[in-house]
Amino acid sequence: MKTNTVLVAGAGGFIAGHLVARLKQNKNLKIRAVDKKPLSEWYQIFPDVENLVLNLESKENCYAAANGCGEIFNLAADMGGMGFIENNKALCMLSVLINTHLLMAARTIGVERYFYASSACVYNGEKQTDPDNPGLKESDAYPALAEDGYGWEKLFSERMCRHFREDFGITTRVARFHNVYGPHGTFEGGREKAPAALCRKVIMAQKTGAKEIEIWGDGKQTRSFMYIDDCIDGILKIMYSDIKEPINLGSSEMVSIDTLADMIEKIAGVKLKHVHDLKAPKGVRGRNSENTLIKKYLKWEPAYPLKDGLAKTYAWIREQLKDRKG
Ligand code: NAD
Repeated sequence: MKTNTVLVAGAGGFIAGHLVARLKQNKNLKIRAVDKKPLSEWYQIFPDVENLVLNLESKENCYAAANGCGEIFNLAADMGGMGFIENNKALCMLSVLINTHLLMAARTIGVERYFYASSACVYNGEKQTDPDNPGLKESDAYPALAEDGYGWEKLFSERMCRHFREDFGITTRVARFHNVYGPHGTFEGGREKAPAALCRKVIMAQKTGAKEIEIWGDGKQTRSFMYIDDCIDGILKIMYSDIKEPINLGSSEMVSIDTLADMIEKIAGVKLKHVHDLKAPKGVRGRNSENTLIKKYLKWEPAYPLKDGLAKTYAWIREQLKDRKG
């Protein structure tokens, strides 16, 4: 790198907070962590890196954030679980401004490498109607029928990365994350995803003595979940690889949402009745990560066992809720 300064966009959030923690281990790097949230709301904050509060929808702020950087990791986006993205499509689409302005800044400033965090929500909905989904291959994003709002923004931004690479020579790398979970993430407030939401529900049921928990949908919808450590390993492997096209970064250990809840109950040592809310947002019927390409290119795939990752996540959320009465 011409310069050793690295920008991490969205650093107040879940994944980028963990990424800063990992990058910090390289003492040769100077890290600039940027998020629009006030510092008091960042999930992890490291006083020994440069922490900036900037809204990266603005072009000027993107130029200020990228100034002097040799590499950019863009993980900033307005995002959440199904409950958030189904009801906030316009907000999700506005994240296009972040990636567009960061790419423009990267081009002007001469940034060498650029990572973009895409999502399994880019995949064609018609290929996700079966709970026994054999796994979504990278080519299943086309013909395009992405998740409305959030998924279309991700697909468009993937293509922006591709064209900035082809036309302007920036080394862009794109990973399609499949559900990431772990400590230091959202577990309440409406943006949380299924693993964190279910950990919270089980913990609160224990505290209040409730015998049941609510599950969104009929519980038979399937997903795979990637533990945060695998996600960070994968981001770094993909960033410094030769992989030009968007690639899956996800676990292929697929479970139903009812099974996910059962696993969390086992960790907690309780058995609860599942009350299914069929009117709640539930997303596609079946989604799994097909990992042939990542195994071929990197000789690696996310493989942290779900039960082990859930145990760590559960313990962290229980600690956060220790003073909560119910
Ligand atoms: P997160 O919500 O915890 O983190 C995103 C961060 O971006 C937040 O802290 C938010 O304040 C920040 N942000 C939003 N708009 C901004 C703006 N205009 N300027 C500056 N900062 C802004 O989410 P996460 O789970 O850490 O996700 C990180 C990235 O990975 C996102 O791009 C997300 O779409 C993608 N992704 C995540 C998952 C997952 O399971 N967590 C799955 C697929 C894709």
